[in-house]
Amino acid sequence: MSDKIPQSRKFLYYAGIFITIIGFILFLSRFIIVFTGNAFNFNPMISFLGIILIIFGQFIRSVGAKGLAGSGIILNPEKAREDIKPYSKAMGGVIDDVLENIDKSEVKKEIIKIKCRSCGTLNDEDSTYCKSCGEKL
Ligand SMILES: [Zn+2]
Repeated sequence: MSDKIPQSRKFLYYAGIFITIIGFILFLSRFIIVFTGNAFNFNPMISFLGIILIIFGQFIRSVGAKGLAGSGIILNPEKAREDIKPYSKAMGGVIDDVLENIDKSEVKKEIIKIKCRSCGTLNDEDSTYCKSCGEKL
């Protein structure tokens, strides 16, 4: 099991983003052409191709990010766990960081009370006499 995302998946991820951008440009080109008044020459297939590329790009990006099992294309929970391990690992790191930032002196400050042998009242750690009945602790 590796904690790092394989190079091939990184490549897929960035390729997916690239394809998505190309898709957007193709898709938006329709509107640009409409604004410039050349709409009549526009082939609607280019817009359609743009949408296909956006969907395909997102698909590739998702597979790159989470792997085939991790993105749900292959139904394999064990493999999925391995695929998204870099993320769960990172998430664990985030939790560790949060815990680290909590003031440890605050957490460790325990409240110790002394129970009076006579009446059972809980008194502060440093008190000599019971605050309720006055008995020596
Ligand atoms: Zn007492």
